[in-house]
Amino acid sequence: MSNATINCPSCGGAMNVPPGMDGMTVACAHCKRPFQVPDIAPSVFSQQIPDGPRRRSVGRSPGSNPWIWLAIGLPCAGVLIALLFVWKGSDRDLKQGQLLQLYQDIKPGMESEDAEKRVRALMAKVNGDLKVEEPEEDDTQQFQKIFEKGNVRIILFINRGTNKLVHSKKFGF
Ligand SMILES: [Zn+2]
Repeated sequence: MSNATINCPSCGGAMNVPPGMDGMTVACAHCKRPFQVPDIAPSVFSQQIPDGPRRRSVGRSPGSNPWIWLAIGLPCAGVLIALLFVWKGSDRDLKQGQLLQLYQDIKPGMESEDAEKRVRALMAKVNGDLKVEEPEEDDTQQFQKIFEKGNVRIILFINRGTNKLVHSKKFGF
């Protein structure tokens, strides 16, 4: 229950009176003349609750108006989706960066076993089944070893005489 508004019998000025003041003598806030607070029915208090109707209408707009929630929800969903894309994108970039870094360690002149070990370490970061091919070739100088996993492919060109890496090629990253 909150204050009721009564009017001073002398000057007619409005005054807020807290509940439970019925019958008490108070001084008017405007003309300072004392007067007795009349009996105030409880319904006066409940009808004159100043926050009541306002609070209800404030509560109604976001509570039961679906457009408000749509207006709030859509941008929030948009931000979440954007964040998801950024996160996915950075994850992919991170992986690409890792693959490139590992590939840079595969250098011409290294032992073919060493190069192959590095290719396998790189391929361990790629999803899928690893396929290794060593196609027959007429080239007397060098042979190829092809590693394939997912959409990533690395070809090692190995010198037949020295068994060292001549060069390599990469696809898919
Ligand atoms: Zn007065």
